[in-house]
Amino acid sequence: VPTLAIDIGGTKTAAALVEGGRVLERREVATPPAPGADALLGAAEAAARPLLAASAGGPVGVASAGLAVGGSLRAVNTATFRLPEPVPFAAMLGARLGGRPVRLLNDGTAAAWGEHRHGAGRGAASLVFVTISTGVGGGLVVDGRPLSGRQGLAGHLGFLGVAPDGPACGSGRRGTLESLASGRAIERDAAVALGRPVSARELFGLRGRDPRADAVIGRAAEVAARALADLAALLDPDLVVVGGGVGLAPGYLGLVEAALAREPALFRPPLAPAALGADAGLVGAADWAARPAEG
Ligand code: ADP
Repeated sequence: VPTLAIDIGGTKTAAALVEGGRVLERREVATPPAPGADALLGAAEAAARPLLAASAGGPVGVASAGLAVGGSLRAVNTATFRLPEPVPFAAMLGARLGGRPVRLLNDGTAAAWGEHRHGAGRGAASLVFVTISTGVGGGLVVDGRPLSGRQGLAGHLGFLGVAPDGPACGSGRRGTLESLASGRAIERDAAVALGRPVSARELFGLRGRDPRADAVIGRAAEVAARALADLAALLDPDLVVVGGGVGLAPGYLGLVEAALAREPALFRPPLAPAALGADAGLVGAADWAARPAEG
């Protein structure tokens, strides 16, 4: 029987039937702007409702943006989700879905779990998942378990501080990995370097032909490599799985590897491109929900 999974993001909410690490069927609705708990529950329920019967009363896995721990959900940035305090989201959603058991993970953590079980991280007991897209996100699997931390903050790699006086970040910090190496940051720096608006995709197309493009992309890749070397010092993972529109852009991973090669050998974790794409969170949430609860 397939497992029902729901992935709640800032712009869209997807629900899917997942079996054996594969998405069999999916539905999507828009996530309302700056939703509170009721609006988020409504979006999740609307996406999931048509798939409920086919998942036959089984557990429901939820991957959501925000801080998820022990079934509760809270926002990092209340402009994204209006959840300043933790709400018992898993229990609330379970009640709306006719009493189904719901297991909740942060979306980056769910994606890390998905890659660990069914993607690029199979066989890696400890892995770091990092997605470099519009922002920078991530998740951790440590010794074969997803790590959420005390507040659900574990794995939010975009909030690592990499430059003391860097630009402001949505987390409230300054000079974070996200503020310097995300797609948004690359586009901001590219606009300054080239004197006109440029998309990250176009900028990557200019690699090797425009030294200003190479400089902006090279700097972002170097910052990311330094953060990964720090993660080696912290967790010494078996693997770092890199995803996202920028992370998987042609040539990007090679630049990160070249920058890592300038670090001492101990601080160079093995890298691999993500394998599950946009389905990683759904696959991970479903797999985690379908596991027997641990004592
Ligand atoms: P999201 O941020 O919504 O999760 P993506 O993972 O696709 O979506 O990331 C979007 C970011 O990746 C944007 O900054 C976009 O410009 C950039 N991007 C997407 N495709 C490419 C590409 N082929 N080369 C470089 N940058 C890309």
